[in-house]
Amino acid sequence: MVCIIAGCRNRARHNFGVRLRRPRIWAIWAPNTEAYLCDEHAVQGLRVEVTLIPTDTGVVDTEVSSPRGGLVRRLVPLRTYDLVLSMLAAGECVGDYVPPGSDRSVLDVFLDGGEKAARLACS
Ligand SMILES: [Zn+2]
Repeated sequence: MVCIIAGCRNRARHNFGVRLRRPRIWAIWAPNTEAYLCDEHAVQGLRVEVTLIPTDTGVVDTEVSSPRGGLVRRLVPLRTYDLVLSMLAAGECVGDYVPPGSDRSVLDVFLDGGEKAARLACS
């Protein structure tokens, strides 16, 4: 991966993620983004500016950029965890379900394991 910081050519392996925490339990959502940082930029300090814009798409839509650098975007379905659990409880195959506004199936996002997990759920 390429570091998102402008002009940096270091190998980037640290993925930037966002999380909305539920009090004392797990996150309501916590998608990784498509942004990566190199070892150097991961530890030197960063200023992070966050703008939250409400939508009614059922998707967490993240855009990450750096000044004069790249901009990356990722769409992740909202309430994935609850949706997958309810579909599995109902005996439904969740591997192929792609929520509106997303480019990934629910199970791909939920388990981040993709094909193998989807096959298990659909067998
Ligand atoms: Zn870097």
